Amino acid sequence: MTTELVYSTVEPPPVGSGIELCAGVHWLRLPVPGRLQHINIWLLDDGDCWALIDTGMDLPDSRAFWETSLSTYLGARPLTRIICTHHHPDHAGLAGFLARRFGARLHMSAPEYRLIKTLEKFHHDGDAQTARVKAFARDGLVADGELGAAMMLTRYAQVVSPVPDDVAILSDGDVITIGGKAWRAMLVRGHTDGQLVFHCPELNLLIAGDQVLPKISSNIGIYPERVDQDPVGSFVASFKPLIALDPEPLVLPSHGSVFSGLRARLATLTAHHLVTLDRCCDLLDVPATALEIANRLFRGPLDALNTILAVGETLANLEHLLLLGRVSVAFDTLGVRRWVRLGVGDAHG
Ligand SMILES: [Zn+2]
Repeated sequence: MTTELVYSTVEPPPVGSGIELCAGVHWLRLPVPGRLQHINIWLLDDGDCWALIDTGMDLPDSRAFWETSLSTYLGARPLTRIICTHHHPDHAGLAGFLARRFGARLHMSAPEYRLIKTLEKFHHDGDAQTARVKAFARDGLVADGELGAAMMLTRYAQVVSPVPDDVAILSDGDVITIGGKAWRAMLVRGHTDGQLVFHCPELNLLIAGDQVLPKISSNIGIYPERVDQDPVGSFVASFKPLIALDPEPLVLPSHGSVFSGLRARLATLTAHHLVTLDRCCDLLDVPATALEIANRLFRGPLDALNTILAVGETLANLEHLLLLGRVSVAFDTLGVRRWVRLGVGDAHG
């Protein structure tokens, strides 16, 4: 499915180091636990200083890299701007730490700043944890052990350093100048409420965050703290301005290798989501909870975090199918909701 992509001849840097991808654009890699293993972050030459796009997760290894090899990489020039594509721990985890460590100003979109500030409170906010558990209970999840901790989102604050209260808010269409080059912020939704990707026409580059990855489809889910209730629709709609980029830029994704073939990749991702919608619908010949459908849609066994992600993505598909008029949903007396394909027996209505 990815044969249409052409990968850059520049080899990815080893984790914990960086290389210059092209003039003034440095590709750094930091560790991420689990299947992803790494995140790409981008250090941009800003004349007498540096700007950084995304930061890595707040892990001891990542902090150590910043203190040693990556600080050496920066040399005598200060890091003055930190720009986060979105609130996920691998992207924004070290934003607060680096802002304090280097005296740099943090930039992000308003929806992502709201999310990071909401989530960093969860570990000491019992009411917020209870509300999140209740929300997931509607879909068949029981707050037990590791799954309970994931439902309560208590770990976010362990891998995301608190961010400052004064951040610079970036909006769709804003143009920032880094090293004399104009980068246009594009707000894209679906993976989260307000992810920013950055296009530089002069360099013909797109820093794509998690919106366009070369080998995997990023998680498109519904979660209690999110505003967007149709992320599948939002995700596919966000492709339109990316398809319109002409000429096609070189894509700098957050995971995997730098590649060309943006439109082909977007076409593959759109097809993937249409197939997933059909697969989801096909599984609804009898009423089922989102958890039951998730366990059939995604190959297990799923750990606690991946169970939450699978249920969130299943819900995103179910809500989109509901908007399309292909499914219905009803609550039982215990407050658990079940979904069924319309036109199946007499179960709908
Ligand atoms: Zn993400």
